[in-house]
Amino acid sequence: MPPAPKTQAARTAGAETPEAAAAPDASALLAWYDRQARDLPWRRDAQVPRPDPYRVWLSEVMLQQTTVAAVGPRYARFLDRFPDLASLAAAPWEALAEEWAGLGYYARARNLHAGAKALAALPAFPDTVEALRGIPGIGPYTAAAVAAIAFGRPVVPVDGNVERVAARLFAEATPLPAAKPRLAALAQGWMAQPAARARPGDFCQALFDLGATLCTPRRPACALCPWMPACAARAAGLQQELPRKAAKKPRPTRHGMHFLAEDPEGRILVRRRPDSGLLGGMLEIPGTPWRDAAWTMAQALPLAPIPGLDWRALPGQAEHGFTHFELRMGLLRAAAPAGAAPAGFAWMEPAAARAAMPTAMRRLLALLDSSPPAGARGTPRRSRRTP
Ligand code: SF4
Repeated sequence: MPPAPKTQAARTAGAETPEAAAAPDASALLAWYDRQARDLPWRRDAQVPRPDPYRVWLSEVMLQQTTVAAVGPRYARFLDRFPDLASLAAAPWEALAEEWAGLGYYARARNLHAGAKALAALPAFPDTVEALRGIPGIGPYTAAAVAAIAFGRPVVPVDGNVERVAARLFAEATPLPAAKPRLAALAQGWMAQPAARARPGDFCQALFDLGATLCTPRRPACALCPWMPACAARAAGLQQELPRKAAKKPRPTRHGMHFLAEDPEGRILVRRRPDSGLLGGMLEIPGTPWRDAAWTMAQALPLAPIPGLDWRALPGQAEHGFTHFELRMGLLRAAAPAGAAPAGFAWMEPAAARAAMPTAMRRLLALLDSSPPAGARGTPRRSRRTP
């Protein structure tokens, strides 16, 4: 039996060390996992003798900031295109950018690419947290996840699910993010139990599943929880209130104006964003910088990629939320004469461009769906829309 939970006051006063805190029973969690593990695509891969570290790494990177439901089909598609480390390392960035389009958080794809190149140059996939941290783009969470799941190292990767479980188990009242170091230490303490150390990968995945299926942000299913006997939040009736979070600052709004030029063949003008920064290395509809103040036509037009066209504003704005700000984009549209694209730009078939673009740009292009094609304003004819 796991030790009885201590009082909330004892746990929140910061007077005890993580090691001294009561530990929920790792065996109980593993037994629950053996019965209830989620059937996920990356768990269906051959697991003998251990999961392929490339696939573990890929799945963990894809799952950051992205739901399991969204990642599932994209994981399989990605592996069809890049089945192993060598194929990913050898791929041009454009191919990876196209494959990642729509998944968001594009720095992940850039890090994945840089990491693949570094890993492919090594004689073997690093198998410790320390060695994995030496690979470009592999942070503490991913290093711990790969080390535990692919190599059986006794470490606990701490994501939002694990933080939530730890905050509730120990009734940690300090709000996030200030509580992060303590919660990470508490979670790592669970790995001291022999049952957890015997199956580190399963133990970590059991934690992920517990947080995702029972210890959910709202209305945790405590009655089904294998760790309920040790849960201080449950004992105190605080499970719905924890973890506490510091109040977030409201996100500012930024504004951009973008230019959709269409040539007589129906192709659209695109460019690739700089490698670093937001949406780095991704295709975009060219536009103004994104700034705090809204753009007027007079301010935006000098920045058009092809000057002198009859640029017309489409009705409405596209909105996209980034982590630190909300973006509102207007779209100006013009028919361009036949000719080569200006330096730094390219003409592209609309369907191919849209497929390779990030979600923010797809939302911008969705403004077309309620507008007639360029050069056809006031002229009733069959609409040619970008798909
Ligand atoms: S008992 Fe409830 S709050 Fe505690 S860990 Fe289990 S699901 Fe979470």
